[in-house]
Amino acid sequence: MSVMNNQGRQTTPTQTAVNEVETVSGNKGLSQRELLIFEVGTPRRTGVDFPERIGTKNRLGGQERTSEIGLPGLSEPEIMRHYVRLSQKNYAIDLGVYPLGSCTMKHNPRLNEKVARLAGFADLHPLQPQSTTQGAIELMGTLAHWIMTLTGMPAVAMSPKAGAHGELCGMMAIRAALDAKGADHKRRVLVPESAHGTNPATAVQCGFTIDSIPATDDGRVDMDALKAKLGDDVAGIMLTNPNTCGLFERDIIEIAELIHGVGGYFYCDGANFNALVGRVRPGDLGIDAMHLNLHKTFSTPHGGGGPGAGPTVLSDALSPFAPVPRIEQEGDTWKLVEDVEDADGDSFGRMTAFHGQMGMFTRALTYMMSHGSDGLKQATEDAVLNANYIQASLSDVMSPAFGGICMHEALFDDSFLKGSGVETLDFAKAMIDEGYHPMTMYFPLVVHGAMLIEPTESESKAELDRFIAVMRSLAQKAVSGKHIDMFKAAPIYAPLRRLDETQAARKPVLRWTSPEA
Ligand SMILES: *Cc1c(COP(=O)(O)O)cnc(C)c1O
Repeated sequence: MSVMNNQGRQTTPTQTAVNEVETVSGNKGLSQRELLIFEVGTPRRTGVDFPERIGTKNRLGGQERTSEIGLPGLSEPEIMRHYVRLSQKNYAIDLGVYPLGSCTMKHNPRLNEKVARLAGFADLHPLQPQSTTQGAIELMGTLAHWIMTLTGMPAVAMSPKAGAHGELCGMMAIRAALDAKGADHKRRVLVPESAHGTNPATAVQCGFTIDSIPATDDGRVDMDALKAKLGDDVAGIMLTNPNTCGLFERDIIEIAELIHGVGGYFYCDGANFNALVGRVRPGDLGIDAMHLNLHKTFSTPHGGGGPGAGPTVLSDALSPFAPVPRIEQEGDTWKLVEDVEDADGDSFGRMTAFHGQMGMFTRALTYMMSHGSDGLKQATEDAVLNANYIQASLSDVMSPAFGGICMHEALFDDSFLKGSGVETLDFAKAMIDEGYHPMTMYFPLVVHGAMLIEPTESESKAELDRFIAVMRSLAQKAVSGKHIDMFKAAPIYAPLRRLDETQAARKPVLRWTSPEA
């Protein structure tokens, strides 16, 4: 059997499924093979006819392009088929359980979509005069109010466009606060070993150095190690709570006090806020800055690098340094303060061209208002309950990384696979053949062969039971030693099978080159 790689050339996969038949078309049943759009289209074809330009003056002053752009053109049916075929190769939250830990792949309610498509929100231009966009600014202000209420924090910067961008916002505010005090000796940021890779990356971007704190045997910050690392040069800490092991950091208030005691600031990575909404207000824990991932906790769609939103809450100590634009209300009038000179305090500047992701704001506020405070709390509790149900139902056949109750995600290590020849990767690939998107693998790094399962609150008990039955059966097959070939060959039912991931990471082919060139 052979498959096409993304250059349309033939490659031979290392394993061949026993029963797989090579088809003439390359299609597999109703699963259509699809080439790249550059191979399907040609610059000479088009799906639309534009009318001749009449009465418009060319103002390009001789700068206009004269040669072909070379973009592929397709007819309308061709383009429909191209994207529908690609979409059918995708796994999606609308298709099944998506247990990708740390990502909170919850259902995106359709009500959100309906509201986001209202013309009064969807068709605005960010450069429209503010007098014509009062409703949209009010929506941003209302969302900001909900975010500040849920987090118990006095200020929020709405413009960051992702979690990592929110981290950048928070750390830039911390850097600005330190600079304002002339504290240029404070450049060391403490980051627990289990942190998401974006945390140390963000701190380094802001000119800090990283000092890593080890975890205890029960998956939490080692307080003795933390205390040993405190000193006058500490700028702050970046800590996730619940942490990336899915565990609540019990010592978080003491951690905040210790960091503040040496004149540092507390950045909390809020990506796991889905385990806390309505139950814990981060403001009560002594944090100074935290991003929320609207695309995780508040059900705006994510994946594929699509638009996210990472509003970042700030404490009184950091709010004077918040970026512009800022939302203000004077009587009945809503205002976006666009310039640093017009903003109170000592804003560190502007992070984005415009105001943030309007479509995501609309969806997130719809989600919050349609749930209400009781519904948001219920969602949190169900998310934690579902994760614990999975952990309890699998703990006799798989190996939970830490004992005890987890928060919104269940973390397993690979010790149950020891001696079986099956590795975490093989196990994950076998899940694909069973119709499930794998859980997060090999993260967090503090756990060997990590498998991080986050069901979210969206899954029913019946759906969870089906998932658990599959996971139990795979775990038993793996340790039996009788199915090693199946695990090593998996996935056999996926459109593409095992790819050379090292090659793809080290030597990615980012540009299509015409075979004629
Ligand atoms: C998802 C995530 C991030 C980054 O968020 P993006 O929106 O993907 O930039 C940071 N930290 C943790 C713990 C996360 O799970």
